[in-house]
Amino acid sequence: MEAPPLIGRFAAVPVGRFAPSPTGTLHLGNLRMALASWLSVKARGGRWVLRVEDVDRPRCDAALAEVQVRDLAALGLESDEEVIWQSRREARYRAALERLHEGGHLYPCACTRKDLQRLASAPHLEDGLRPYDGACRSRDWEGFEAALRFRLPGDEVAWSDWALGPQRDDPATLTGDPLLFRRDGVFAYHLAVVVDDGEQGVTEIVRGADLRSVTATQIRLQEAFYLPRPAYAHLGLVTAPDGSRLGKRAGALGLDALRACGIAAEEVIGWLGWSLGCLDQSAPCTAESLIPRFDWSRVPSGDIRTPVGWA
Ligand code: GLU
Repeated sequence: MEAPPLIGRFAAVPVGRFAPSPTGTLHLGNLRMALASWLSVKARGGRWVLRVEDVDRPRCDAALAEVQVRDLAALGLESDEEVIWQSRREARYRAALERLHEGGHLYPCACTRKDLQRLASAPHLEDGLRPYDGACRSRDWEGFEAALRFRLPGDEVAWSDWALGPQRDDPATLTGDPLLFRRDGVFAYHLAVVVDDGEQGVTEIVRGADLRSVTATQIRLQEAFYLPRPAYAHLGLVTAPDGSRLGKRAGALGLDALRACGIAAEEVIGWLGWSLGCLDQSAPCTAESLIPRFDWSRVPSGDIRTPVGWA
């Protein structure tokens, strides 16, 4: 059956989302984003949706996705709609690519497999993101079997970020023309995230500051689909107690590991709530109890250190 055309859903209330990739257990930093995105919409009577970003299948693990959903539920964060799995939405992504091609936005890319593989997943700072130089921009169309890139229009993008304030970026110097489809049949993160946010009617995107640098690119892609632009908030990351990046130690900061150290879910929520400016000090509580206390003007900017003894 043909996928229906991409269309942004009209939202009568704010719609937020949390969209983890199942490549590991959710650590404190991820849980903080999840709670912030949930509180932000719940404080204004909105809806929150959970999406499994497993579009890059070889790097994802369905069992880990189940654990992520379970851990969020243990904190009281449950999707208001059926959880969406990107690996089951390929017909949608294909239809979206066709739509972009009709608008003249795509060109085939013959760059090496190694380069393309690196670009399929959500690019975080540690991936050493480099802008694509446009080497294949003048190649003739070769059909939907080739790797495909989106031709970025050449100007800056400005947006107002709830956490960072006014922002301005030139996507050409950050990502360059993003890869949307890999020769081996994998649809890329940028395509899936923009299509899904549009189709789920997402009105606000709360995520880690390590994804700020791809926002301008994703806004350009939304515009090519004539999708409404969501609000953005890029939050500081959770670091180790000494301020260093969590890196590999992050595994030690999953809910199971914390529970094994005697730290209960309510204690984790209390700390997260404090880290988001809802509480004067960290004290065990439920996510529900934080809803009336959440206000973007009180969310601290910058990174937050994990409590000593937790990491
Ligand atoms: N799936 C991405 C990740 O796990 C997040 C994408 C997004 O929030 O836009 O990092």
